Amino acid sequence: MSTIPLTELQCPGCNVQVQCSISSPTEHCPFCGTSLAGADAAEVSIEADSLQVVPFSVDASTFKEELLKWLMEGDYTPNDILGRVFIQEHIGIYLPLYRYQGTFESSFTAHAGFDRVEQFVEHVVCTNDRGQIQRMPVTRSRKTIDWRPVSSKLRTDFAFVCTAGQRLPAHWSDFCEEASAEQASSRVPLDLILAHENTIVTFEQTGEEVFDARAKAKLWDIVQTEIKNRMPGDHHKDLDIQWSQESTSSQIYHPFWMASFPYNGVIYLFLMDGCDETKFRGNRPVDMALRARVDALFQPLQTAAMFWLIIGFFGLFFALIPTIAALLLGIPHILWLYNSANREKNDILTRSRTTRESALARLKKQDEEAG
Ligand SMILES: [Zn+2]
Repeated sequence: MSTIPLTELQCPGCNVQVQCSISSPTEHCPFCGTSLAGADAAEVSIEADSLQVVPFSVDASTFKEELLKWLMEGDYTPNDILGRVFIQEHIGIYLPLYRYQGTFESSFTAHAGFDRVEQFVEHVVCTNDRGQIQRMPVTRSRKTIDWRPVSSKLRTDFAFVCTAGQRLPAHWSDFCEEASAEQASSRVPLDLILAHENTIVTFEQTGEEVFDARAKAKLWDIVQTEIKNRMPGDHHKDLDIQWSQESTSSQIYHPFWMASFPYNGVIYLFLMDGCDETKFRGNRPVDMALRARVDALFQPLQTAAMFWLIIGFFGLFFALIPTIAALLLGIPHILWLYNSANREKNDILTRSRTTRESALARLKKQDEEAG
């Protein structure tokens, strides 16, 4: 069994544990950007044979290009974002995941409901040609549900992945699991990680711990979906499920490009699937002052709408004349206010976008001159 020696560093900022090559330790925490220069370091070794690693297929320059493009988007992204954001040397990171593979057996009992249209005869009172009142039978139809008890057993194979780092918020974990699930077949040896000086995020929990914390709920969803797919009829009730499972877990490293950047004291993250540049997720700062300026444009519109509404309402008590005036004058007034506020909003947002785009163009030019 081959083992690979690594340095393990604990970020003093967010406590995440990362592992990296001894010869070129990671300089900044990928999650919060804190310098790892004085961080607690320990020598660890990992068993290379037990791990499966998916290689990067998106390169660093593609990542940077997509990141900058993404930073430019959004209506209320701050104009100075490129100047103010310090994007640390973006690093490739390997996030730890467990792949669970196995079989579950379940049995269930329920009542399955079948929709049926039934016909029935109703007697209605009506007047005939001669003006006499009589009761006539009329055939009508109605929807009804027939309930029948059902029970069944099933045995199904499953395979899925779960993130094994506790530091990721749930929506990031979902993104990482989706990305990793699609790349299950292309695994390579661990040496590739070290060859490219990437950072590895430590497996902080055992396979059993992750199973209890996250995988069990996922598997339960799979069991319920399978059963509902097999349930006969159009509805069901009183569903009772008994189930057990047998599975094995294996450790996987899936590659991601990650940039974390602080803006006004808040840390923002951008994460891209290392195997597919079209799959990324991030959160951007919002220029609150710009948003407030745009919101203020619509203030006169709200005031005018309220004014005409009150005039129109009082008109109901005064021969409707003020109501008619409110309809004839108020609606065009409100439309005119809305259009002019909207025009001004679009002007402001376009100016903001143009400022950002020219900043990006300047940055690209500098890069080209430097490179
Ligand atoms: Zn950190």
